[in-house]
Amino acid sequence: MIGPEDVGGVHVKYLHHCRRQLWLYARGVRPEHLSTTVQMGEAVHETSYTRSSPVDLGAAKLDHLDGAAWVHEVKSSSKPGRADEAQAMHYCYRLHGVGVAAQGAILHYPKTRRTKRLPYTPQAAEQAEADIAAVLEVVSAPVSPPLLPRPSCRGCSYLDYCWNE
Ligand code: SF4
Repeated sequence: MIGPEDVGGVHVKYLHHCRRQLWLYARGVRPEHLSTTVQMGEAVHETSYTRSSPVDLGAAKLDHLDGAAWVHEVKSSSKPGRADEAQAMHYCYRLHGVGVAAQGAILHYPKTRRTKRLPYTPQAAEQAEADIAAVLEVVSAPVSPPLLPRPSCRGCSYLDYCWNE
């Protein structure tokens, strides 16, 4: 089972999207490789923000860190959601952990040309730490969390997996 240092941005994103998705992901279930949603996300990623240089922090890999220590993340959805924000704050938390004083994150939504700037605050740091604890609690559960109500599963890369069992 994973420990605190193994928790990455994807774990945190799934924690806030769907705990069942997180539980499955932690067990190696990765239907997202087959999903058109994910393939579209990768295409958006490859054609946007071409000047970016990814930063690899081990469990956490972020799209780009600029010279003013702002994390940049390119998203394939249309608008900011709680999961994107929590993932971005997790990257700031990890950067602070290795001595880089990240100021915050800028989320880019090329589909709608929106951006959202999120400063990294003491509250965000506290939440990021709480998220890591919550991820570990979810993944160590003996049985998978329940399905979300079907309308909440729209666009989820695990949809076929969950609803065709
Ligand atoms: S399809 Fe629904 S229940 Fe399954 S992982 Fe996605 S959001 Fe969760």
